[in-house]
Amino acid sequence: MKYGKLSNYINGKNVASTSQRSLAINSPLDGNSLAEIPLSNYSDLDVAVKAAQDAFPAWSNTPIKERVQVFFKYKYLLEKHMDELTKLVSEENGKTYGEAKAEIEKSIELTEFATSLPQLVQGELLEVSKGVECRIEKHAIGVVASIVPFNFPSMVPNWTIPNAIALGNCMILKPSEMVPISSLRLVELLKEAGLPDGVLNIVHGDKEIVEAICDHPGIEAVSFVGSTKVAQIVYQRATHNLKRCVALGGAKNHLIVLPDANPQMTASNVAASMSGCAGQRCMAASAMVAVGEVDHIIEKLVEESKKIVPGDNLGAVITKAAKERIERYISQAEADGAKILLDGRNCVVAGKENGTYVGPTVIDYVTPEMSVAREEIFGPVISIMRVHTVDDALDIENKNPYGNAASVFTQSGGAAKYIADRASAGMIGVNIGVPVPREPFSFGGWNDSKFGVGDITGKSSIEFWTKPKKTTIKWDAQAKTNWMS
Ligand code: NAD
Repeated sequence: MKYGKLSNYINGKNVASTSQRSLAINSPLDGNSLAEIPLSNYSDLDVAVKAAQDAFPAWSNTPIKERVQVFFKYKYLLEKHMDELTKLVSEENGKTYGEAKAEIEKSIELTEFATSLPQLVQGELLEVSKGVECRIEKHAIGVVASIVPFNFPSMVPNWTIPNAIALGNCMILKPSEMVPISSLRLVELLKEAGLPDGVLNIVHGDKEIVEAICDHPGIEAVSFVGSTKVAQIVYQRATHNLKRCVALGGAKNHLIVLPDANPQMTASNVAASMSGCAGQRCMAASAMVAVGEVDHIIEKLVEESKKIVPGDNLGAVITKAAKERIERYISQAEADGAKILLDGRNCVVAGKENGTYVGPTVIDYVTPEMSVAREEIFGPVISIMRVHTVDDALDIENKNPYGNAASVFTQSGGAAKYIADRASAGMIGVNIGVPVPREPFSFGGWNDSKFGVGDITGKSSIEFWTKPKKTTIKWDAQAKTNWMS
């Protein structure tokens, strides 16, 4: 085990779990053993919540201009340790070096946004009657929790850590049990940056600890990122226990390709979108809806996809079970009558025989009832559905239950606007295959891709991580004015 047995991180220290359950972590790149983590229980969480509660009064009373100084230093440390953090993400998640580096760069951008929060949360003030003022200030909520998935071991924790903490909250982070190592390194860097003990705590675990977070009375708010099935469970359980919750779920993103689209740009964007991070992105293209005569673009898509080589510019999928699941989807599509133009099944990378790789896969003549058209595959697979009109394409996009992202490829501004206005998704791309909004714009989907109000990043997250206090003031206590005057 390269990193040995890992512990929870509570009040600035490694703390052993009282649980008897644990999990071995292997690298998807080559199957090598990396670490073992505890699968923690309610009493482990209770210790972490107490530490966070103890840290909250001092941290929330520290002026925000001082709190963000930690994140200026943290940004510098992320830059300084870029190579080490990149390798760690790649090792535990299976991404290529370039993809992992992009994730650290995005973590830096998220941190930059948090350092700008003092400019965005000044509050409001108005003379509401003669001599009477009302002011609104944004206060921290208290102890909050962030539950994250496996596919971005650094970026998704950094969706919540900098903003929630810069706004004065104390946090329990529950990393994905499949990629727990990067989070522990991030918390070490935050300590080095000056974050006081107890402000950020890490509790490792699985379903049991997620349920404990939803139930614990000391936790005021829960943010969740993961599959739709679990997002629903977490949203229902946390809000049932009267916590605020935003829960981001899975995705099935449609790219609508019109015949006038630039063939080369479209083909390379679709190929990159479906295969980047081995298709394990909630923003990945999963379905391409080809409107009319676009065979010339599909041919180029296959050509571009052939340039994507597992173990070289295509990383591994997270587990053997994930590889088998993805391959089952491809086999089912074939059995259902779809045509496999490029087949990524049974992929083995020489020298990394224990790695879990799936090659890029292009499936044509998919119909909307097939499972590859309906369900999230989370692998480097694109399913092409052919339709005659833009409205047929929109009908398919609109009927899918998810709503994270949708993109249109065309050179017609009018057609792009028509589709962008009618697609039922929270993040829209025009001639862009992965339309991730950059800071200060916020990230979040619609429909079954997100439960709760507001988005998880950017300006929208400020409302989630704070509560407004309204104060009405008559400065001259003797004045005859009252609030009505
Ligand atoms: P997951 O839902 O299996 O796990 C997410 C978290 O929930 C993990 O921390 C895990 O420990 C916990 N968990 C798993 N099963 C649970 C259960 N039954 N009860 C309670 N907690 C449980 O997701 P994943 O496989 O880690 O990540 C992939 C999924 O995340 C995909 O569906 C992807 O689309 C989605 N995702 C969405 C976004 C977004 O912004 N919408 C971003 C990244 C990933």
